[in-house]
Amino acid sequence: MSLLFLLACQTKQLPIKKQPMKPKINKSDAEWEKILTPQQFHILRRKGTDLPGTGKYTYHFENGIYKCAACGAPLFKSEHKYESHCGWPSFDNAIPGAIIMQPDYSHNMIRTEILCANCGGHLGHIFDDGPQETTGKRYCVNSTSLNFMKTNHHSDQ
Ligand SMILES: [Zn+2]
Repeated sequence: MSLLFLLACQTKQLPIKKQPMKPKINKSDAEWEKILTPQQFHILRRKGTDLPGTGKYTYHFENGIYKCAACGAPLFKSEHKYESHCGWPSFDNAIPGAIIMQPDYSHNMIRTEILCANCGGHLGHIFDDGPQETTGKRYCVNSTSLNFMKTNHHSDQ
């Protein structure tokens, strides 16, 4: 009797199955196109890539926070940033919970895509060739996906 009840409950709950990887903000392409510049839309919503060495934050090393250019969610701190000489802004860590990762099989490669956890905007990819003295990870991010906000004081971490 109780087993039947349980099964019935589970069947009932199926349509509202939780998807933990889903971003909090869900806008249509038309809505994003109104908010973003054509370049931001291309990178963030169409998973484009800045040309290497062209991004405004590649050689940018001020103290502050790098936020998502689409939704403003804080993603990286300046102390996470390091010079990787790969042509894109590189970070060895991210603000906890700020990033979603998912497999990316495009361009005949197996890579891990990184997205803003808040709006699902495409940021770049994560690789395992980061600095060994810290995390060993390289968050390779498009400058177009970021908005830097300067902070006057060093962060508390
Ligand atoms: Zn975002």
